[in-house]
Amino acid sequence: MQLSYYCSTKSCQKLNYIKVQSNNRFELKEELGLEINERCKHCGNYTKRHINRLHCSPNYAIIIGGLVLAVVITIFIWHLGFVSTLTGSIPIGIWMNQEKKASTFNKVLIDD
Ligand SMILES: [Zn+2]
Repeated sequence: MQLSYYCSTKSCQKLNYIKVQSNNRFELKEELGLEINERCKHCGNYTKRHINRLHCSPNYAIIIGGLVLAVVITIFIWHLGFVSTLTGSIPIGIWMNQEKKASTFNKVLIDD
């Protein structure tokens, strides 16, 4: 999962990303603890954030990977003499899946 948070320094407030293994906030609590204390990549100051305030966004690298895969498959099928609408549904499926995972993550908060 890729999580994002805004830098707490008033003059900066830029978006930062952290990569985690967890798929939900319960796992995240195990992985990172209740709070993060991360260094901003833009200004170098540390930001403390409760993990409930970390926001998950869909993994665009996976979505782009799905698109590339679909293009490769389309070209391959094209050479065999088929044109398939099925290949178009692969990246859409992957994209929907990423969106769903992200929104599920954001909906579930831990109580503390
Ligand atoms: Zn900053």
